[in-house]
Amino acid sequence: MFFFLVLLLLVVALVALAYNAHYGTGKVTIRFQTEGGKTVRKGQGGNIGEALLDGFRELYGSLSPGSYPETIRSRLETMEENLAQYKDRMHRRDIAGCEDYICRTKKLLEEKAAATSAHKSFVAEQRRLMTDSLRYDVLRRDKFRCQICGATAKDGYRLHVDHIVPVSKGGKTELGNLRTLCERCNMGKGDKIEDQELTPEEFIKYCER
Ligand SMILES: [Zn+2]
Repeated sequence: MFFFLVLLLLVVALVALAYNAHYGTGKVTIRFQTEGGKTVRKGQGGNIGEALLDGFRELYGSLSPGSYPETIRSRLETMEENLAQYKDRMHRRDIAGCEDYICRTKKLLEEKAAATSAHKSFVAEQRRLMTDSLRYDVLRRDKFRCQICGATAKDGYRLHVDHIVPVSKGGKTELGNLRTLCERCNMGKGDKIEDQELTPEEFIKYCER
């Protein structure tokens, strides 16, 4: 009887050892490396599968409006290689979990790319709408005066037609969102790409029109 008990314990211990040797044991840290060999992310868990899943979860969580899609994409690729490498040493539910995170991360990346492209065409369209004639309408409405300090081109300042809400932030090129600013008041304002300038010479020409 005693002999059988010892044998049973031995078998259990051997199975446990084999299990741990296969799936990893305790705190497993898997380093996700870039091509340059630099560690970019560590996953931690009770075994290899959990550690990998943790890494995928972290990468998904790191997706924010400010994150660079190229970086996330290259990290995802590296982690997919890790997954392929360790797949046969992982539990099925961890593999499924990782694959789920891969799908969700890719979907977010696609949505981000679509939003970026929509934003680019919006900016291009709003810049195209900024015509000389609209510029003149704004300047005339504002009586050729800076809407902050009241300066005119006669005072020696260039006049700009400024987007109150910048195009990059969704502002449209329409009268209600445009105002005349002198170069001094417009200085320090970001998003200058859509600014239009009016030199003192142009101002005189405009007045003669
Ligand atoms: Zn001014």
